[in-house]
Amino acid sequence: MKENLEPVTSQSQSIQSERQSHSEGENVEVVEDLVHRNIHVKCVTKKLVKQFKKDNKSLMAKWEHIIALHQENPGYKGIRLVPKLTDSHCIPSKIPRMKVKFATQLFSQTVASNMGYLAEKGIISEDAQSTADVILFFDKLFDSLNGSYGKRKKHSKPLLGPATPNSVHHKTWTEAKIFLKNMKFVNAKTSSVEYVPTLNNWVWTLEGIELLLKKIAVKYGVTSVWLRHLNQDPIENFFGSIRSQGCRNVNPTPEGFEAAFSSLLINSLSSVHAPGANCEVDNCHALHEVLITSGGCREQINCELSEIPDIEFTPLEDKSDPRIVGGLQYVSGYFIKTAKKKVFKGCSECKKNLMSIQEHEYLKYREYANKKWLCSPSDSLLNCVSNLQDINYAIIKMCLEKKYLKELIKTVICMHIQFDFIKCELHKEKLIDFLINISCRFFIYNYCKEINKILINRRECDDDTDSYKLKAKKLYMKCFKRKK
Ligand SMILES: [Zn+2]
Repeated sequence: MKENLEPVTSQSQSIQSERQSHSEGENVEVVEDLVHRNIHVKCVTKKLVKQFKKDNKSLMAKWEHIIALHQENPGYKGIRLVPKLTDSHCIPSKIPRMKVKFATQLFSQTVASNMGYLAEKGIISEDAQSTADVILFFDKLFDSLNGSYGKRKKHSKPLLGPATPNSVHHKTWTEAKIFLKNMKFVNAKTSSVEYVPTLNNWVWTLEGIELLLKKIAVKYGVTSVWLRHLNQDPIENFFGSIRSQGCRNVNPTPEGFEAAFSSLLINSLSSVHAPGANCEVDNCHALHEVLITSGGCREQINCELSEIPDIEFTPLEDKSDPRIVGGLQYVSGYFIKTAKKKVFKGCSECKKNLMSIQEHEYLKYREYANKKWLCSPSDSLLNCVSNLQDINYAIIKMCLEKKYLKELIKTVICMHIQFDFIKCELHKEKLIDFLINISCRFFIYNYCKEINKILINRRECDDDTDSYKLKAKKLYMKCFKRKK
């Protein structure tokens, strides 16, 4: 099936014209085109400059803004504004072409909101605002075609809910079609307009889906549809796995297919997600719970005092760079939100100590759908998390291999940080415990992820004083040479 995907332009064009000659309403074909949605995504990422109209003004989205955002997205002591953004998303030569993941992660609300924020702060070009608009537009469009959530409170994006006759999907699509029709690709070097089938195919896909929804409503009375169910990626992955079973199983007999299927079934029960498949990855909720939010180990371990490194604290005023303080606010807000759920719940005293009534500027950018569901940390909490960051990062960087690393970090935290700002007698002890635990787990987890990214060359080593990052880079280079 993969071969079908490769010749992007010519073939999808012919598919398109072939389909149009059929009379309307052939449901099967409409569905089929959803697979080709992936191709559209790919096309979009490859082109460099895009022109579009908003409020009747002609605006330009440029790939260079994405590269600029990538450059201005430094990790500072374990916190990064857009943690997912790597070289594989931004640097054209490093983008894996067959993997949709990188395109969909790039066209996300997080990337758009951070781009808007940095443009507003004058850190990247002001024009980047229009690139952010395009990214946001595609994020919404992807969401509107990828819904699989019920109306639970947890998922506040209504576009991820089912499409019903009165849902927001239809309005989104009508607007999207106008937007897409007005959009043009412009060659970055020659500034001439180039024709790509991507945009037309998008319009065509949307029209197909509208038609399909109408048809199944009238004919079968189905009025609520999760659009992710139209996605064929799982089948593609399934056949891909069958084919690669036993090295190259490209033309199996029915018996062979059955055998491959059963061995896959048994093997996959124990193995992790198929590597490199265009499928949503299991985001390891269970692991995440264990690593980040669960309770600590109860064992008493004593640390050698001589092992404790000196910590240099960076005062919060010196972290005023929007790229640094923004991330810190976001992470602090996340800690508080979790603490509210798990520790202090409705306690007004705790709320007063930990949360700020005024919403921080960065967090305003990150909110979406006009819902206020990020928490703004109070100044004293922000300061506390900033110190926790300094301690955690300094220790992880120096003694990652140490046994009982977390106990060591906890000891150092207790030596250096006063939690005076927490006044509530009822929750004080639990809250301190919680903050220490969550920060350790958060920073250790993030640091390991960072190292993993360096190991697979998605990120460069950004700190020459960090021996683990240097080691990871070296190891990658060694394996890379061997592969050649
Ligand atoms: Zn309380």
